[in-house]
Amino acid sequence: MEQNRHKTARYKVISDAGGVRFKFYCEASGAAVCITKQCYPAETEEELLRAWETEGKQLFNRCSKCGRWICNAMYNADTLECVDCSPWEEQPSYCPHCGSKVNPADVFCNRCGIRLMYGGDADDEAV
Ligand SMILES: [Zn+2]
Ligand SMILES: [Zn+2]
Repeated sequence: MEQNRHKTARYKVISDAGGVRFKFYCEASGAAVCITKQCYPAETEEELLRAWETEGKQLFNRCSKCGRWICNAMYNADTLECVDCSPWEEQPSYCPHCGSKVNPADVFCNRCGIRLMYGGDADDEAV
C-alpha cells in the first residue's frame, strides 16, 4: 500500500466480525490516534478513504514540510510543521519508557536504550 503513503496517515486494517476497522497512527510518534467504525471490506481502498475523511483526518494535522500526518501532540502549530521538522525549543522530550529527559534528535534513549523515533515501517514488526 505504498501508494497510499501520505494520502492518509499510516494505518493498519483490523478485522472485526466480518468487517474491518482502520486504525490510524501519528506518523511522528507512531501512537495510535483513532480506530474507525466498522465497515465492510469489499472496496477496501474506498472504505479507507471514506473512513479517513469522516473519522480520521480531523484528528490529524499535515506537516507542511515533510507531508506526514501528525497528531496534535506532535504538531507545532506555530510553524505548521511536525516536531521532527520544527522541534519545540522550550519543550524537552521525555523517554516514554523510563521518563528520563532526552534530546529530541536522539533515536535511542541514552538511559534505557529504548527506540524513541519511529522511522519508516521499522516499528511494524514490534506491534
Ligand atoms: Zn514534518
Ligand atoms: Zn528511557
